[in-house]
Amino acid sequence: MSRVIDLTGQRFGRLTVVQFYQRKNGRTFWKCQCTCGNQTISRADALKSGSVKSCGCFAKEKHKLDFEKFARSKRQKNDLKENTDLTNLVDKPQSNSLSGIRGVCFSKGEQLWIATLNLKGKNILHKRFKNKQDAINARKEAEEKYFKPILEKYKNSHSCQSD
Ligand SMILES: [Zn+2]
Repeated sequence: MSRVIDLTGQRFGRLTVVQFYQRKNGRTFWKCQCTCGNQTISRADALKSGSVKSCGCFAKEKHKLDFEKFARSKRQKNDLKENTDLTNLVDKPQSNSLSGIRGVCFSKGEQLWIATLNLKGKNILHKRFKNKQDAINARKEAEEKYFKPILEKYKNSHSCQSD
């Protein structure tokens, strides 16, 4: 029988050895206080080798952190997709646009047609026209100029997806 080495008061990771617990099959067990408030029984050799560093809370927290990290990165990806405002490109014309063309509406106060285009929350087109067709043309031109490259890029990078 080897002599029991007193570990009382020693710190191993989050665990501080409080008192001797028992000796069984040649192994020494110690009662430990974890920084999280839990008490746990740990084997002396596991403490000394560093394989036990907490009551188990450390592993649980790490798992939780990993999961949160994963969830966060997934959320960011989704945000990125929404930010490109692609849903706007395939939307049906707004029912209140009067023109039947998305991005072209009639200002009753000014008696003018207004062509608008929003991209990623920015107003990149906002022009007034006396003639409805001019407004439609302006909107279409802007679509060609700003949306097409994005659509092409989107198509190319998402060609493997069904949506
Ligand atoms: Zn703990």
